[in-house]
Amino acid sequence: MANKTEKAEAFVTEITPQSEDFSRWYLDVVRRAELADYSPVKGCMVIRPYGYAIWELIQQELDRRFKATGHVNAYFPLFIPESLLNREAEHVEGFAPQVAWVTRGGTEDLDEKLAIRPTSEAIIGTMYAKWIQSWRDLPVLINQWANVVRWEKVTRPFLRTTEFLWQEGHTAHETEPEAEEETLRILGIYKECCESALALPVVDGRKSESEKFAGASRTYSIEALMGDGRALQAGTSHNLGQNFAKAFGIQFQARDKSLQFAWTTSWGVSTRLIGGVIMTHGDDSGLVLPPRVAPYQVVIVPIPRGNWQETVLPRARELRDRLVGAGVRVMLDDRDAYTPGWKYAEWELRGVPVRLELGPKDIEKHAVLAARRDTREKQSLPLDGIEARVGHLLDDVQQSLLARAAAFREERTTRAHDYAEFVRLMEGRPGFVIAPWCGSAACEAAIKTETQATLRNLPLGSPAPEGPCVKCGRPAEGEAWFAKAY
Ligand SMILES: [Zn+2]
Repeated sequence: MANKTEKAEAFVTEITPQSEDFSRWYLDVVRRAELADYSPVKGCMVIRPYGYAIWELIQQELDRRFKATGHVNAYFPLFIPESLLNREAEHVEGFAPQVAWVTRGGTEDLDEKLAIRPTSEAIIGTMYAKWIQSWRDLPVLINQWANVVRWEKVTRPFLRTTEFLWQEGHTAHETEPEAEEETLRILGIYKECCESALALPVVDGRKSESEKFAGASRTYSIEALMGDGRALQAGTSHNLGQNFAKAFGIQFQARDKSLQFAWTTSWGVSTRLIGGVIMTHGDDSGLVLPPRVAPYQVVIVPIPRGNWQETVLPRARELRDRLVGAGVRVMLDDRDAYTPGWKYAEWELRGVPVRLELGPKDIEKHAVLAARRDTREKQSLPLDGIEARVGHLLDDVQQSLLARAAAFREERTTRAHDYAEFVRLMEGRPGFVIAPWCGSAACEAAIKTETQATLRNLPLGSPAPEGPCVKCGRPAEGEAWFAKAY
């Protein structure tokens, strides 16, 4: 038994402690929890079943919200003819360094190169130009779940890969205020979904001109803070104005019979959110998953005493069936080849929110021992009404993870009153530093060069700036949130 316990411990210590090397820790968790693996294609990852199950749950959460707000799903081609991609000048300039091209089909060179979509504004805009004729055709509210390719030099699983999965919404509207309303509605959905499903507190705000999407009028983002004090852009929503409508000829006859260009938006979140969940909640034992996106919310480990397969196992199966019946995602780990200690370490590593240990003594007491992954607290739960008790426990874990992440962000958010203080606060990886900013790209660029911090966004509903621009001393345009970011 001692030998087996030692093995279980050695197994867990395969993960580098966060305090030693956060980046190493992250890669260890991704690999050991079997979320993703490197592939023979440089910069591309394989999302393994456990990682993909998390993505499916995130998809469901978002898809439900998109549909509830009138959006529908469709699918557009992977390839974009070069001439289409080139239509919006800023857009093509922004993406050019990252576009992968197909130049041959079979044995023949193509007359026109085909881009592998880095994003789909060009192909979708072209189709919208065909479909939209009159104000009666508006709004068009389409989303697609797809893969995109952006050639990356430095990659990291989930956070930055050459091919990644995402959703991209593309909408067209009759008026500018409607497009702005849509852009902000989606930003609100992203924020609410991140906070309630992923337990990721995010700052929602407007990007600076230099950080906005290539071709957009305005870009908004949600920004999360990771466990190492770096920020992660977790989603973006763009008001494209009439830029893309003009480039792709999306015109409609208005109510007054005049010919007008449509107002369009686009918005997306990606598998990057999985990276955000790992780095926000994980600890030195591995992954910690919020129940709402956990492939298994509960793992049941039967304690093998005596003829446990006749005594304990049937009760464990009964417990599983009751919980499954109540809509809980359950794994009953009845494998004979592993000890309970090994199983505890394994499921902790994989971030299962609640573990239920069931042995002969628990059965005698008509109870089960519950252990939470987040706090490691253990309590005996009566089997009477276990469905509701487990439901409450999962809700509590979900709420606690959000509260813990929000408290962490609070602790790691400071305010700089002058530039010397800003520079001093930005040493290491402090989290967010709030400072007044004049709106100039020059100040933003100088701050980036001198401190490595980027302007994450200007939060919606921020109070008036407390003083002049932290960099140049001219009047400030707003309160900007800066951080070193992924
Ligand atoms: Zn300035």
